[in-house]
Amino acid sequence: MNPAKRRTVIAGNWKMNFTPDEATAFINEIKPMVAGKDNCDIIFCAPYVTISAAMKAAEGSNIKIGAENVHFEEKGAYTGEVSAKMLKAIGVEYVIIGHSERRQYFAETDETVNLRTKAALAAGMKVILCLGEVKEQRLSGITNEVVGMQTKLDLAGVDAEALKNVIIAYEPVWAIGTGLTATPEQAEETCGEIRKVLAAMYGAEVAETVTIQYGGSMNDANAAELLAKPNVDGGLIGGASLVAKKFTAIVDAAQ
Ligand code: PEP
Repeated sequence: MNPAKRRTVIAGNWKMNFTPDEATAFINEIKPMVAGKDNCDIIFCAPYVTISAAMKAAEGSNIKIGAENVHFEEKGAYTGEVSAKMLKAIGVEYVIIGHSERRQYFAETDETVNLRTKAALAAGMKVILCLGEVKEQRLSGITNEVVGMQTKLDLAGVDAEALKNVIIAYEPVWAIGTGLTATPEQAEETCGEIRKVLAAMYGAEVAETVTIQYGGSMNDANAAELLAKPNVDGGLIGGASLVAKKFTAIVDAAQ
């Protein structure tokens, strides 16, 4: 983390978990546990049907509720999709875009990730943009090339002003939901590489202000070491974001 230069963000990705009642109970449980821990932003990204209940439970607290995806069109014949205008209408500020599960199971490409990113930013939302290499790419030694290309393609047409509303989540795909965590050195190196690409695109001064999270089996046991690295500005957390005690320990590591 480097709080002098950029905001630390600890975000949960609930994925396809929690009904509205379960989300309400979870937020009511964790709210007092994270109260006053203001050295980082705390966000939970929820399934669409759960968002309103979670927001209501989080009212008046330091917890923000986001969405897990958004479509790039404002409205129309896109069965099953939700637009940025719809999310804004219910007060949602943050949205995850380009999660590896969307890329892997729902055929999202850098092109659609870029379209979704631009649409969300144009609607005034804040984007958590996920990218990262698969295991074979890391083993082949091309991680830097992969994340560099994703950064350039996913942010094509996003100017420096709009970039202020982008958080990047570096998520090595081999570490998501597997219990395998990148070492702090690997996380630092790749987050630093993404910052170098941002510097080439937007200038070093702008790149220094961008929050770059690490995601991939971050938990209460490894968060402190990962967050101690200067280019790791927070975490995007899946499994551990469903357990109040574990998530709170990660927030504590960011204080
Ligand atoms: C994620 O879903 O973005 C994630 C990092 O999951 P997990 O923490 O379970 O690996």
